[in-house]
Amino acid sequence: MADRYLHLTGTAPGRFLTRRLGLPQPAPLRRWTLETPHLDGSLLHLTAGASAVTGVAEALRTSGLTVTERADRPAAIVLDATGVATAAGLGDVHAALHPVVRSLAPGGRIVVLGTVPSPDDHHQAATQQALEGFVRSLGKEIGRGSTVQLVRIPVARIPGGASAHAAGSTLRFLLSPRSAYVSGQVIELTSAAPDSGSAPAPITDPAAPLTGRTALVTGAARGIGAAVASVLARDGARVIALDVPGAREELERTADRLGATALPLDITAPDAADRIAAAAPDGLGVLVHNAGITRDRRLANMPADRWASVIEVNLDSVLRTTDELLKAGTITRGGRIVATASIAGIAGNTGQTNYAASKAGIIGLVRSLGPRAAADHGVTVNAVAPGFIETKMTAAVPLFIREAGRRMNSLSQGGLPVDVAEAVAWFAQPDSTAVNGQVLRVCGQSLLGA
Ligand code: NAD
Repeated sequence: MADRYLHLTGTAPGRFLTRRLGLPQPAPLRRWTLETPHLDGSLLHLTAGASAVTGVAEALRTSGLTVTERADRPAAIVLDATGVATAAGLGDVHAALHPVVRSLAPGGRIVVLGTVPSPDDHHQAATQQALEGFVRSLGKEIGRGSTVQLVRIPVARIPGGASAHAAGSTLRFLLSPRSAYVSGQVIELTSAAPDSGSAPAPITDPAAPLTGRTALVTGAARGIGAAVASVLARDGARVIALDVPGAREELERTADRLGATALPLDITAPDAADRIAAAAPDGLGVLVHNAGITRDRRLANMPADRWASVIEVNLDSVLRTTDELLKAGTITRGGRIVATASIAGIAGNTGQTNYAASKAGIIGLVRSLGPRAAADHGVTVNAVAPGFIETKMTAAVPLFIREAGRRMNSLSQGGLPVDVAEAVAWFAQPDSTAVNGQVLRVCGQSLLGA
């Protein structure tokens, strides 16, 4: 179902009318294309006080943008606030961004680099936590399709000092059109244990960083799963697209289009992990749990079978297949597991006690398993939490609720399946080793659960 309001505000009379009525003004978002893979303009690199990390300039250069310390109309601004550790130091954040925030080009990016709040120093912790409120507020007021994020770089417990090197893949994603529908997010990088065998892997072909890896995507016949399969194939992965046998025709069409292998299989089948392992004899470099269902009813009206089927597909099968595939070694070292949560799992939703429970469960899973999977298997575990994404699932939502879902976010529009897919591809990058146990909301900074 097309977003007619977005189309209307894209015309001069429509813009005039909706402005006069004080209605939201969504800016068309520019997404990645082969012809325009980068933002259009330069990257302004600022520092508040003294930086606490090395290598920021090198990490920024991987964005493909020209890094400068002065720019009239930057496409992106990165403020290094890693060294800000006192309340007074927050004045440096204001002093750095206040004069330049208006000059950011439409569809621009602001990324604030911070550090993990310290459990031992409450002044540092207060100050670094302050950056979160700052970023979330700026995301709400910046407008014109621009986005604002906070990336926390771990500075503690790193012998020889902290480096922004591990932030490379994250900055590449956030400072590009690939993150068009991500705003107001806080990403906390981990310090990859050097002996885990999971140190950043070299990328031999930047245009196809997943070359040589096999990626399996569940629920890949249509919607978000088909977009994930497509983006991972674009990035060079050999893709296995899994969906229920009942969706075989649609699955085969999708797989054919992408040069992927179709695997008709119900993910809840008792032998699902064995069948997946058999379909990937050389192991899996990327496993994306995307299959999901809704069976909405208020709790008072919800029969046990509706409850059970949602928990079974959205959570239990994810736990089971993850455990079995990790144990069997099917997910190779340096591998990536990405699961699909939802903002319903963060904010809750009427009629979705089962669905929200299953999606909150995914968040619990990635936070708990991420560090252990890295230590034991050299594998990262992360989740995307989509907001309102334009798919068949949301096209079925009644008009007024659908309109509210589309507008109740800082970008005043719904996201596209490709927005979620790009986030999955970022988690899947060979050099995303420091991204672990994270839940990235792809929701245009939805007001729900914010
Ligand atoms: P969709 O219904 O269009 O696609 C889901 C796919 O999963 C379908 O092809 C379906 O056949 C498959 N599937 C269902 N049960 C399966 C099973 N047992 N085994 C294998 N495949 C199975 O949904 P979508 O909108 O593309 O959503 C994809 C994921 O994103 C889901 O986990 C969903 O909960 C989540 N999500 C979607 C939105 C949104 O706005 N669309 C928002 C938040 C979260």
